[in-house]
Amino acid sequence: MTASRTSSDVFRIDRREFLAGSSALAASLLLQKGGYAANVHRFQHGNFDISVVSDGFLMLPVEIVLPDAEPAERPDIMRRLGGTPERAPFHTNIPVIRTGSDLIVVDDGSGTHFQESAGKLSANLLAAGIDPSEVTKVVLTHAHPDHSGGTVKTDGKLTFANAQYFVSEREWQFWTDPNFEKVMPQALHGFAKGAQRDLFAVQDRLTLVGAGDEIVSGMQVLDTRGHTPGHISLQLAGGDGAGHEGLVITGDAVTSNVVFFEHPDWHFGFDTDAELALKNRKALIDRAASERLALLGYHWAYPGIGRAERNGAAYRFVAAA
Ligand SMILES: [Zn+2]
Repeated sequence: MTASRTSSDVFRIDRREFLAGSSALAASLLLQKGGYAANVHRFQHGNFDISVVSDGFLMLPVEIVLPDAEPAERPDIMRRLGGTPERAPFHTNIPVIRTGSDLIVVDDGSGTHFQESAGKLSANLLAAGIDPSEVTKVVLTHAHPDHSGGTVKTDGKLTFANAQYFVSEREWQFWTDPNFEKVMPQALHGFAKGAQRDLFAVQDRLTLVGAGDEIVSGMQVLDTRGHTPGHISLQLAGGDGAGHEGLVITGDAVTSNVVFFEHPDWHFGFDTDAELALKNRKALIDRAASERLALLGYHWAYPGIGRAERNGAAYRFVAAA
């Protein structure tokens, strides 16, 4: 898989096709537990009180979701993801974490910069009784449009006006490189414009972090590069009372709770460095299985919480909720 496959062109879905495909899916998602509504899943992990707030969902085409699958096995997997043979919904699970005097949001969704089925974070926060002005910290796992696109509102103001922002130093350097358009393929130029819009908007309140740094006590940055060159995940200390002594918020290090547990050697079509992403994805899932870590995945079936178990040479995802 080359970087050219990360073209934003695949998201320019014909509006009629999109509406036809998404209305049936939206109806089915509504029936799932909290899938697309403000019915917020809330749980405690150590000193962290976590609400998983949905930003809606994205529709991804089969060639991005399953580039390595045989044509004959694709339709069944796409159906298990809740989709059609051509497209499947990817949820967007945003952890909103209370700890001490902080209220922390991990990724701020699509805003108005991506598909119409996403960008619901602000509405769902409101419905859940969470005031955006109380958010003290926003951590961006990376600066793709479905993760940082909610940074600035349509009126130009910040969604989280009182928050400090955190992104990895590598991510900042990658997207804000003045020579980006000269050195990176054209397919990524649109994403770079969006990333620059979001990152420059919070430049005066941005902390650049790296592996091992703590956002707050007990919330540590993990280097999970590959999906983007500066992608990070977060590991939260403490137990959940069920024998899991850590929780990893994966971001897009693992983009599906079905595909990459069952097929850890398959690539994902939106990884900037597909081989590095695969290596780090597999290592994270394997460590989660060994250490019985709880996992929270951004694009996994809502609320995206569970753990990894070994299953022969692969893994299986065991949902916690
Ligand atoms: Zn994503």
